[in-house]
Amino acid sequence: MIQTNYLIIGSGVAGLTFAIKIADRFPHKNITIVTKASEEESNTKYAQGGVAVVVDKIEDSCSQHIKDTLLAGDGLSDEAVVSMVINQGPQRLKELIKWGAEFDKDASGNYDLGKEGGHSQNRVVHHKDQTGLEIERAIISQVHQKKNIQVLEHHFALDLITDNNCCLGAYVLNQKTNEILVFKSDVTLIATGGIGHLYGHTTNPVIATGDGIAMAARAGAQVTEMEFIQFHPTALYEASSRPTFLISEAVRGAGAYLRTKKGERFMTKYDDRAELASRDIVSQSIDMELKKTGDPCVYLDCRHLDRAMLLEHFPMIYQRCKSIGIDMARDLIPVVPAQHYLCGGISVNTDGKTSVENLFACGECSRTGLHGANRLASNSLLEALVYSDKIYHYLESHSWENADWRDDVPVYDLIKRPKISAQYTKKLKKELQHLMRQNAGIIRYNSDLLNAEKQLHKWQEEVQTKCKTHQISCDLYELKNMIVIALLIVRQSILRDENHGGFVKFTIGKK
Ligand SMILES: Cc1cc2nc3c(=O)[nH]c(=O)nc-3n(C[C@H](O)[C@H](O)[C@H](O)COP(=O)(O)OP(=O)(O)OC[C@H]3O[C@@H](n4cnc5c(N)ncnc54)[C@H](O)[C@@H]3O)c2cc1C
Repeated sequence: MIQTNYLIIGSGVAGLTFAIKIADRFPHKNITIVTKASEEESNTKYAQGGVAVVVDKIEDSCSQHIKDTLLAGDGLSDEAVVSMVINQGPQRLKELIKWGAEFDKDASGNYDLGKEGGHSQNRVVHHKDQTGLEIERAIISQVHQKKNIQVLEHHFALDLITDNNCCLGAYVLNQKTNEILVFKSDVTLIATGGIGHLYGHTTNPVIATGDGIAMAARAGAQVTEMEFIQFHPTALYEASSRPTFLISEAVRGAGAYLRTKKGERFMTKYDDRAELASRDIVSQSIDMELKKTGDPCVYLDCRHLDRAMLLEHFPMIYQRCKSIGIDMARDLIPVVPAQHYLCGGISVNTDGKTSVENLFACGECSRTGLHGANRLASNSLLEALVYSDKIYHYLESHSWENADWRDDVPVYDLIKRPKISAQYTKKLKKELQHLMRQNAGIIRYNSDLLNAEKQLHKWQEEVQTKCKTHQISCDLYELKNMIVIALLIVRQSILRDENHGGFVKFTIGKK
């Protein structure tokens, strides 16, 4: 058994920023971060657009940012949470800058603020189109400077250890040695990010399989609003590429149009804000156009925009398009909606506490009430920054009882069991992704959801048996977790009887 004061699962913006603060405040306590790939691999690393924060107090105001967030959330955001998160934004940005993250400035030395769908003002602080990479770089370098933080790469958290609704630690698979380690911790933070790989088309990296949410659900934590999944309207359409490359909202913010194959600029038919309508509306509009025409994609048109501006602001997107023979200043870019973000997740209060004692959740895996039925672009890095700070302050100012360690915690020695075949997990993951895309995608039907639920229960039984008879591996556990998440999405979609934001369901009828 390995003892640690703070066990953090995940090394994205949520986990790392929490670790930095706790390490500074409690230099004599030890902090362990387990992460299933290399330390920088995360959704955070791929964030392009930036962080939505009110820094221009003349044109913009927190009340306008709050209004935009509530509008995107379509009546289901928690107003107190929205106000708290947005008002804390400027402080959290200052911290990032103090830790060494750099953001673009204009010629007069002011932050160059981007505008994205659903925002009424320019307020997105960014580092070219690689904001996440810059943030991850800065905070990892801070983590490396702290003597009391240990980062364990290629360590896959399997399950939480609980007793009497209190978290005592977690089982973690060392993917290099295949050993299952037992961690005992005073506090456990789940910061495992999103669920993108439940859907075939996703902008998320392969780590995004919903592990933390699945393990929290197994431990009895409340998990809610899983039906609110955001599909990014404009991922680069390439038949073979997984994950799908994201063409940032900021490109539409800079003036790009969406067109059908025939050249029609269709967004004006669906919303007065046209291409700058919120993501749910743009994704649903594209979905409807694709269903109408039978085309596999629509097109983003930047041909009327200045080449120098495109190169200056979107160097990574420019290069990526170029690598497949598309000159974004001259050619149309084929795009398709792809799963991008999960608005729901592990329910937490304003201190980041879950319904299980000594268990906290932060970042994309959590449901705070900020996003409601749809996330406003660039509000998620902000949410993770604010909540990791809230959890830190809660732990700084509260003492709590550590639960007694259970003597009956099983120790696993599973090395002797047969390995699961990679072919089996790959095939079933693919089938699951297909099922989720078809039956629980952008527009859903109750009959499809009910069919999906039946199939998922069958797979769940099958995979649970495999977990008992085969060696536990990252692959097998990801599959097990993906089925748990799929069931949560499908069940909660069936139960929701009103359409809001990103959630569109027809109770009767079939595609
Ligand atoms: C392409 C793209 C562009 C985006 N652009 C923006 C943007 O411009 N602005 C914005 O606000 N948001 C953006 N987002 C969303 C934002 O990046 C994420 O919501 C945010 O970074 C999530 O941070 P996190 O710390 O919660 O999770 P992540 O950054 O995803 O980190 C999760 C960590 O958990 C680890 N992990 C997962 N499961 C396990 C396990 N079982 N055991 C151990 N470790 C595990 C992962 O390896 C990873 O280190 C974007 C997302 C993508 C994919």
